[in-house]
Amino acid sequence: REPVTVIGAGLAGCEAAWQLAQAGIPVVLREMKPRKKTPAHHADLFGELVCSNSLRSDQLENAVGLLKEELRRLGSLILRCADEHRVAAGGALAVDRTAFAQAVTDAVRSHPLITVEEGEVTALPETGQVIVATGPLTADALAGDIARRFPGSTALHFYDAAAPLVTFESIDMDSAWFASRYDKGTADYINCPLTQEEYLTFWRELCAAKEAPVHGFEDRNVFEGCMPVEVMARRGEQTLCYGPLKPRGLRDPKTGREPYAVVQLRRDNAGGSIYNLVGFQTHLTWPEQKRVFSLIPALRQAEFVRYGVMHRNTYLDSPRLLDRYYRVRTEPRIVFAGQITGVEGYVESTASGFVAALELARRLEGKAPIDFPPETALGALALYVSNETVEHFQPMNINFGIMPPLGYRVKGKRNKNAALSQRSLEILAGLEELGTRKKAYL
Ligand code: FAD
Repeated sequence: REPVTVIGAGLAGCEAAWQLAQAGIPVVLREMKPRKKTPAHHADLFGELVCSNSLRSDQLENAVGLLKEELRRLGSLILRCADEHRVAAGGALAVDRTAFAQAVTDAVRSHPLITVEEGEVTALPETGQVIVATGPLTADALAGDIARRFPGSTALHFYDAAAPLVTFESIDMDSAWFASRYDKGTADYINCPLTQEEYLTFWRELCAAKEAPVHGFEDRNVFEGCMPVEVMARRGEQTLCYGPLKPRGLRDPKTGREPYAVVQLRRDNAGGSIYNLVGFQTHLTWPEQKRVFSLIPALRQAEFVRYGVMHRNTYLDSPRLLDRYYRVRTEPRIVFAGQITGVEGYVESTASGFVAALELARRLEGKAPIDFPPETALGALALYVSNETVEHFQPMNINFGIMPPLGYRVKGKRNKNAALSQRSLEILAGLEELGTRKKAYL
């Protein structure tokens, strides 16, 4: 049988290679380490965690906890290695990063059906089945080749900063209202007013807030085009009132007047369960984002489903390029996996590698694909990434906001989330197509 080429031995690539090999499909895994490393990778091992050693919450009241549990039950290599090398971290799954990466590396390198080829891949292979899992810091030559091959709306994005995302249900709508500026068109934005006193407190705290360290690979010069909100704030007390917090054309229905300043929130998904803070691309540390942005009255209890980040990130405009199995719609022999598809985070990257490999393995065996439904975290993530109605696509962590609601009331958010997780695990248990794989782990 022709081997499948997997490019990149990060979290997604190792998961994909392992799943294919376990299904009896030979794999050539091509990785540029240790000859060449991205600015964020330092170890020679595969499955390197480039920053935090935490795979985040391990509780079923949290969407990433559910995603982990689904992967665990379906036989994920990355989850197995993480569980084996976990370190105490409360309700989170944190790992000994070296022992974890060593375990991933050993499993992949010792698999009889996986051949590792070292060296940078500079162009997509012209023939054969390929899974591209080269991550957010895909080396330049390959990134250029991908951009040339899928031009226009499907070109790669390079961005330096992103604004945080909050859930709709956590916004205090008693302190905010829906409207568009000058009431033009439909009332698409949620407007969060600030009085002069509230604005000045917010502005002072924003100017003094702690920024995340700038890594060596980040070039401050490239940030100019996408200025972080805290940098803009430091230019003067009123600068934000002429920029992202401009109140012009926004009359508060409670007072009949324009407030002193207004933070606008824009819908981030078709269902309207997630909103982004318009113009709030930021470089602050995550705790500082929560502290300072929660000073905005309507966001006092806001739940952040993704914090603003600033680093180079290479990702596809997947809603226009990929299908729910992360395959290129126009050229399905090419499959993408990991952060390059616009999923955000270690576990999410692993999940996309898992789904991509499962589908490919089944296709090569002549079997129908497994369509993970939107009620499962695996399905919700894949469907979000390939959802053509998402216009301004930005990388996304798994969260309950992209899954269908329960359809009945449950008191308390934790209980509601636990019920959503329970629903998903029951659906997985009932998926006949998973056959023995599921029975082995459920
Ligand atoms: P990676 O894990 O990056 O793996 C890609 C692999 O492809 C690498 O081994 C690389 O060497 C190889 N490669 C690249 N180009 C080529 C090429 N042309 N030829 C051959 N091999 C190639 N997520 C979190 O959940 N928590 C965090 O704390 C966190 N911090 C982050 C900090 C930084 C600085 C960055 C950049 C990202 C961070 N992320 C974090 C997101 C994180 O990158 C992803 O979650 C995850 O590592 C992506 O997995 P991946 O498998 O897609 O890519």
